Amino acid sequence: MQLVILSGKGGTGKTTIVSCFAYLADPSSIKVDCDVDASNLHLMFNGKDIEEQAFTGSKKAIIDPNKCINCGLCSDVCRFDAIDKRESYYEVNELRCEGCNACRVVCPADAITLEEEDSGKKILTVLEDDSYLSRASLYPGADGSGKLISEIRKVSLELNKEKNKLIIIDGSPGIGCPVMSSITGVEYGLLVTEPTQSGFEDFIRAYELTKHFRVKSFVAINKYDLNYEMSEKIEEYCNEEGIKVIGKIPYDSVVNKSNFESKPLVMYNESIAGNEIKKMWDLLKIEMGV
Ligand code: SF4
Ligand code: SF4
Repeated sequence: MQLVILSGKGGTGKTTIVSCFAYLADPSSIKVDCDVDASNLHLMFNGKDIEEQAFTGSKKAIIDPNKCINCGLCSDVCRFDAIDKRESYYEVNELRCEGCNACRVVCPADAITLEEEDSGKKILTVLEDDSYLSRASLYPGADGSGKLISEIRKVSLELNKEKNKLIIIDGSPGIGCPVMSSITGVEYGLLVTEPTQSGFEDFIRAYELTKHFRVKSFVAINKYDLNYEMSEKIEEYCNEEGIKVIGKIPYDSVVNKSNFESKPLVMYNESIAGNEIKKMWDLLKIEMGV
């Protein structure tokens, strides 16, 4: 069984909620952090990295200056403006190259090769309750986040060969390709939103995506008490669409303390938001039958 936690955009409190679920869940559960550009779930726990593997997500063109006959055809064909002229040869600007192969095809001197590039690493971490966290780190500016997410999700599925464990997925923010990689094949989703016009619109887009991928979704409205009118609007939409609002989390200044101390919010008994997240977790478990 897989549960993905999504938000249409960053900054809605998704990781706060995921870290609480990770803390409350049975140690047999497996966690996956799909925010490969800025993985941070592990920072909330005392974990130990037990495996690291290089990830090659993209290719880059390389020009052999000894073979280059200085014709300039590669530079003309490159749509990414990634080939610069030097005095007697041409050179690829690595940061701009998208690995499309066009330059290699047109080069009359066979001077160009495409080489796989290390784009990041896959990491398997064991958390303090002995549960596994599959995560990754994509190098700044590197491509291939969708593919990297598929790979770290594959690790979690391999750890769950008997299919009797719960996999909790911290989905990528937004609604692009990385999010699609986060949700394919997932049974349940929790959409975290906030009561602002942009939060509402982003939530609708994320919901449409889960609908398309046939993920049974629930909704959590974070800081719902900061704008009652907008929270009601979100609830009305959910009622019309038949989506259950499973949690309404109040604004709580303890969230800052928990972020500062890097501890899951539910560890603070005085936290009203933490208590709501606990209730939400219990309800979700009932819905998922775990
Ligand atoms: S197409 Fe080949 S030979 Fe021509 S400039 Fe580019 S690398 Fe050199
Ligand atoms: S592989 Fe594509 S993007 Fe990279 S330098 Fe060649 S033409 Fe440009």
